[in-house]
Amino acid sequence: NPLAYSPPHYPSPWMTGAGDWAEAYQRAVDFVSGLTLAEKVNLTTGAGWMQERCVGETGGIPRLGMWGMCMQDSPLGVRDSDYASAFSAGVNVAATWDKRLAYQRGQAMGEEHRDKGVDVQLGPVAGPLGTYPDGGRNWEGFSPDPVLTGVMMAETIKGIQDSGVIACAKHFIGNEAEHFRQAGEAQGYGFNISQSVSSNIDDKLMHELYLWPFVDAVRAGVGSVMCSYNQINNSYGCQNSHTLNKLLKGELGFQGFVMSDWGAHHSGVSAALAGLDMSMPGDVVLGSPYSYWGTNLTVSVLNGTVPEWRIDDMAVRIMSAYYKVGRDRVRTRPNFSSWTRDEYSYDHFMFKDGWEKVNERVDVQRDHAAGIRKIGADSTVLLKNNGALPLTHNERFIAVLGEDAGSNPHGANGCDDRGCDDGTLAMGWGSGTANFPYLVTPEQAIQAEALSGDRNTNVFAVTDNWALDKVAATAAQADVAIVFVNSDSGEGYINVDGNEGDRKNMTLWKNGEELIKTAAKSCNNTIVVIHSTGSVLVSDWYDNDNITAILWAGIPGQESGNSLVDVLYGRVNPGAKSPFTWGKTRKDYGAPLFAVPNNGADAPQDNFEDGLFIDYRRFDKDNTEPIYEFGYGLSYTTFAFSDLKVTPLSAPKYHPTTGKTKKAPELGEPGDASDNLYPDDIRVVRQYLYPYLNSTDLRASSGDPEYGMHSKKYLPKGSSDGSAQKLLPASGPSGGNPGLFEDLYQVTATITNTGSVAGDEVPQLYVSLGGKDDPVKVLRQFDRVTVAPGESVQWTTTLNRRDVSNWDVASQNWVVSNAQKKVYVGNSSRKLPLSADLPKAH
Ligand code: BGC
Ligand code: BGC
Repeated sequence: NPLAYSPPHYPSPWMTGAGDWAEAYQRAVDFVSGLTLAEKVNLTTGAGWMQERCVGETGGIPRLGMWGMCMQDSPLGVRDSDYASAFSAGVNVAATWDKRLAYQRGQAMGEEHRDKGVDVQLGPVAGPLGTYPDGGRNWEGFSPDPVLTGVMMAETIKGIQDSGVIACAKHFIGNEAEHFRQAGEAQGYGFNISQSVSSNIDDKLMHELYLWPFVDAVRAGVGSVMCSYNQINNSYGCQNSHTLNKLLKGELGFQGFVMSDWGAHHSGVSAALAGLDMSMPGDVVLGSPYSYWGTNLTVSVLNGTVPEWRIDDMAVRIMSAYYKVGRDRVRTRPNFSSWTRDEYSYDHFMFKDGWEKVNERVDVQRDHAAGIRKIGADSTVLLKNNGALPLTHNERFIAVLGEDAGSNPHGANGCDDRGCDDGTLAMGWGSGTANFPYLVTPEQAIQAEALSGDRNTNVFAVTDNWALDKVAATAAQADVAIVFVNSDSGEGYINVDGNEGDRKNMTLWKNGEELIKTAAKSCNNTIVVIHSTGSVLVSDWYDNDNITAILWAGIPGQESGNSLVDVLYGRVNPGAKSPFTWGKTRKDYGAPLFAVPNNGADAPQDNFEDGLFIDYRRFDKDNTEPIYEFGYGLSYTTFAFSDLKVTPLSAPKYHPTTGKTKKAPELGEPGDASDNLYPDDIRVVRQYLYPYLNSTDLRASSGDPEYGMHSKKYLPKGSSDGSAQKLLPASGPSGGNPGLFEDLYQVTATITNTGSVAGDEVPQLYVSLGGKDDPVKVLRQFDRVTVAPGESVQWTTTLNRRDVSNWDVASQNWVVSNAQKKVYVGNSSRKLPLSADLPKAH
C-alpha cells in the first residue's frame, strides 16, 4: 500500500493582473520596482512571534514610511482586542442561509479590523469543511456542504474587503481534524509522531468537494489564502507545489498571496518555489530566533537559488492585495496589543523591549450589536415545536434550567481564547475567537423579557447541572421549563476536559442529557435550547412527549440571549435551516474522526475514507434516516412549493483553455550582498527577524548548516524556469475557466406561505448528477425569501456549467457527463416535493 503521493508542479505561476486585479497589479508593480531586495523580502517575512502587536506582522519599509502589515485573527471579530464586537460564528451564518446577512457581517467585521489597524483579517474558513462532525474547528467555517460554504465564503470576503481590509481564506487545504495537524502539538498530547498528518485526497475528491469553496473565494477576489498545517498527499501544505502552484495559482488563477499558518512553514527555498509568498509569524517555530526566510531568503536570491522573478512575484502579490482593497486609503497603525490588556506595555512583547501606550482602547463597535442580534435570531433553527412556541407573555412561571443559561463565574472572557465551557456557550475556543465586549446570557434576556411591561411572571434559574433535585422541583412548578445544554470544541492547542480541539464524542457536556430528562419528567412543557459548535446526539430524548420544542442556537456571539428571546417570543419567526445533519448515532456519519496514528512514528495517513460522501451525502448513500436532515428547520408558519419550471439557456460551447502565459517579469536589480547589509541606523531588537545580511559572505550570513549544497541536488525540475508556461485546460483568471460559470439553465418555482404569519423560507435546489459514483443529490442553489401569509412568490435561480459537471481526471477538466440529471426543489435535503429531468446541456 504505497503512500499517497503529491505530484510536483513547477514553476510557481507569476501574477498576471488579470480581471479586476489590473489596476492594483499595476500599482504594485510600480511600487515593488522601486524596492531593494531586502525591502521586498521584508514584505514576505514576519518579524517573529510576539515581536509586534498583532498575531503576525511583517517588517515595514521605513525608507518609504510604510510600517509592517498586521495580520489578525479571527473569522468572527478582532481577536485579542477590546471595544470590538464578538460576532456570531461561521456555522451560525451558514444556518441563516442568508447571503445578505453574510455580506453585512463581513463588512461590519472589516470595519472593526480596519479601525483597529489590521491589514489582513485571518478569515473566513472553508477548511475544515466538516468531513468529521466532531472536528474541532468546523464552527469557524460554515457547513460540510461545499456550495453553502462557498457562497458564505464569497459574501464574507466581499464584505470584509469592501471595508478596506484584506480577507484570508483558510486553511488550504484538507485541514479537517485537529488531531495531528502539527507533529509538535501531537507530541504534547503523548503521540509519538515526527511529521504532521497527511490528508490523502485524490484529484476528483479535491475538485468536487474540498477545492469548491476556495474557487468561490478566489472568484470573490480574496486577497490572501492561508496554507495549512497538514500535509496533502504527503507534502506539507505550505510547500506543496501541487496544491499551491497547480491548483490555486495555476488552475484557479489566484492573484493574491499565500501566507503560512503559524509555524506551518517548513523549508526555505522549497517553500518559495512551491508557491508560498509570506512566512507567518516568520520564525521556524514560534519564538525561535531563526527564520527560513528573512535573511535566508535574501541570501537565496543573491546566490541565485531562488530566481529573482519569484521574490518579485511574492512582493507584487502582497502589494496587489493591499492596493486592491484600498489599504493605502484607509490605513491606521495597529492601536491595540494582542499580548496584554494593559494600557502601557512593551513595544516588542516577546523580549520585553521598549515601553509605550499599546492599547488605545479605540471603540470600533458602532451599531453592530443590532446585526449580531439579528444573525443570532435568524440562525436559530427550530427543530421541534408541538405548539409550545412562540411564548405569549401569559406564562406565569418560567423555569430557566442549566448552566448554559447563565454567566461564566470568571466573566465572559474568563478563559483565555474561550478555552473552557463555563456558563452559556456563545463561541468555540482557539484562535478563531474574539473577546466579548459583553455577553447577554439567556437567563438575563429571558428574565428581562418576562418582567417587561410590569408583568408579574415568576422566573427562576437553576444553573447547576448537577443539582437535579432543584431542577426537578423548579420544573414541577413551571408552566414552561426552558432547558439549556451545550457541546463545545475548538482548536488543538487547548484541551478542554479531554477534548483536544476535536470533540471526543457527540454527546452533551456537563450532564446535559440527565438535565433534560429530569426537567421533562417534572414539566410537560419542556423546551430544549442547544448551544453547540456542531451536531449533537439527541436520540435519547428528542421524541419525549413532554419536550414540546427544541431549538438549536449554535454559537451566536455577544447578543446570545437577546437573539434567543426574539425567537422564543415570536418577534422573529424562525427561518434558519440546519447547516449539517443530525444523525441518530456517530456511526451514521461514516468514518470516525481521525484520532489514531496509523503509520508508526511517520506522518499519520488520513485516507478520507468517506470520499465525497460526507454529511447528508453519506446518509443518502447509506439510506440512513437522520433525526433532522441537512437543510431542515421549522417556522411558526408553513409553506408550500409548486410550479417547477426548467428552461435551458443558450450558453456558448465550453472550450478548454489553451495557450501560454507571458514570461515572468523581473522588477529591478537585486543588487549584491553589500546593498543588503544591516543599515547603520537601525536599533536591532533581540530575535527580531530582519531581511538584512551581517556580512557580504553569504555563507556566513546564512544560518543554514548545509549552505553550499548544489542546487541541482534538491531543486525540483523546472522550478526556476521563468519562461512562458502552458496554461491548464481548466484554468482561468478568476476561479478557473470562465466557461464553468456560464449559466446553462434557469429554474423557477413558486413558494406559498400557507400559514397565518409572515415568515422566511429557504428554497433549496439539489441536483442529481446521475453517475453511478455520484451522490444521490447535491445542493446547488438556495436563497432566503420572506413571504407574507397567504402570499406566493416566484423564486428564480440558475445553474451554471460547474453546477452540473464532474471533474474528469484524464482530461484534467470539468465535463458534463451523459448521465440523465435531475433537479429537486424544496425546503430541506429530504423534503423535495418538486423535481424535473434536466434537458441535455451542450
Ligand atoms: C491557526 C490559524 C490562525 C493562526 C494565528 C493558527 O494556530 O491555525 O487559524 O490564524 O494560528 O493565530
Ligand atoms: C463528555 C462530557 C464532558 C465534556 C467536557 C464530553 O466529551 O461527554 O461529559 O462534560 O466532554 O469534558
